[in-house]
Amino acid sequence: MTTSETGAHLIDGEWVTSSATGISMNPARPDEPVGEYPLGDGSTVAGAVGAATAALGDWAKTSFGTRAKLMEQTAVLIESRIEELATLCTLEEGKTLPESRGEVALAAETFRFHAGMAKTSTERIFPSPTPGETIRTVRSPLGVVGVITPWNFPIQIPAWKIAPALAAGNTVVWKPASNTPLLAVALARILHEAGFPPGVVNLVLGPGSMGQAIVDDERVHGITFTGSVPVGVGIRDAVTARNGRVQLELGGHNPAIVCDDADLDLAVPAIVAGAMGATGQKCTATRRIIATPGIRDELTDRLISAVSALQVGDGMHAGIGIGPLVSPGARAEVAEAYDAAVAEGAEILAAAEAPAGDCFFAPTLFAGSPDLSLGRDEVFGPLSLVIAADSDDEAFAMANDTEFGLSASVFTNDLWRIDRALHELQAGVIKINAPTTGTELHAPFGGDKASSGHAAREQGDTAVDFFTRTRTAYIRPGRPV
Ligand code: NDP
Repeated sequence: MTTSETGAHLIDGEWVTSSATGISMNPARPDEPVGEYPLGDGSTVAGAVGAATAALGDWAKTSFGTRAKLMEQTAVLIESRIEELATLCTLEEGKTLPESRGEVALAAETFRFHAGMAKTSTERIFPSPTPGETIRTVRSPLGVVGVITPWNFPIQIPAWKIAPALAAGNTVVWKPASNTPLLAVALARILHEAGFPPGVVNLVLGPGSMGQAIVDDERVHGITFTGSVPVGVGIRDAVTARNGRVQLELGGHNPAIVCDDADLDLAVPAIVAGAMGATGQKCTATRRIIATPGIRDELTDRLISAVSALQVGDGMHAGIGIGPLVSPGARAEVAEAYDAAVAEGAEILAAAEAPAGDCFFAPTLFAGSPDLSLGRDEVFGPLSLVIAADSDDEAFAMANDTEFGLSASVFTNDLWRIDRALHELQAGVIKINAPTTGTELHAPFGGDKASSGHAAREQGDTAVDFFTRTRTAYIRPGRPV
């Protein structure tokens, strides 16, 4: 199935093409391209930033009611097109249709949540030692915001950045990943139809160098980025060097600790979903499964059965649990990590069957030392490692022994272990008896260590902190009280 979509940049409310074009591929069927999109360049970015700069003054002055109404309308339009958007998501990214439907629904809900947030007060009042004086904080928009997004959640991650940015009165220049340009166009169409004024939301399509052009444009006040560590670090250095604001969500190497008292009926499906869901291409995916001695053998047996039974194939087909990797390049990286694990002596515990194809890869469960490269380096694919710990102490120490700190799970019903997890695990998201993946959009999200930058957490009521500037006002009556 092909959709023969044709994309365009959205700049100042107009759909704009470029002379160069790219093809968006379907990773499950590389011989059936999804569609064509324009490849912009630095001048495309300059035009979009110019439009966002010109639109900023008026948009920043719109009432919260107007902003909320447009955001709510965006949510309604996304919901009315769930099947169309989910199909495009599966065709471009490869995840299964049920996974895509869930993601699109969350994107709608994210716009609705921030429509509501636009109506809440973020002001604070402080006591003053001066009689009659009020000390009060007010917020103003950060300004022009660059939004740079990855392909693995091609509509939800843009939604969780764009929605709070717009709700707070910012204008946006959005550069999506090159693997998923047409779904980005579909969301931009919805924002356009919802009625955001020209220049408030701008979409530019093309290579990573266009993201760099946004980063380097001094008219852009802040960048919110999700993607790989090296690109994120480069963006951080460039933006902070010009005193801009930067928000980073980067990689992970997330542990799941399975304690002796764990309920395996609950733990095994949660671990397999966390490790292999979305073909393992989640920053919160479960990469290390750390088991203590009393439960390790039974856990391993059950994980082997569950992983072996996974159905891998075209995400458009019913009954498929795991789709392809996003691209042949992504597959090559996963294959390299697999080969390294085997060469370093990891034991293959289980592998599902995968069809032939440029992007398919068999979900595989290994056992071995935490010092294997598979135990340390992020892999964006369906490979996970079972690690033996001799005690709770060792399991917790192993969980923290990583440069990353995004998400961590503990499977236990023991209150003391739960309390220990909340206080000792070095991760921005801690799950008890639940997968390392999956978070709620009304709660803050972000990581520690190399997984995130130091700006405010994304999502929830903390999202507004990144997208606004706080002013502290001291207001005294004009004459003595
Ligand atoms: P990349 O970092 O390569 O790309 C992310 C985005 O940045 C894309 O839009 C890309 O454009 C753009 N980009 C590339 N180079 C530059 C540059 N020099 N300056 C500015 N922008 C640039 O990551 P992937 O898209 O490959 O995503 C996978 C990675 O993202 C994984 O490592 C994963 O860990 C991480 N990730 C983290 C998440 C989190 O929440 N912590 C969530 C999802 C992914 P283009 O596609 O055109 O190259």
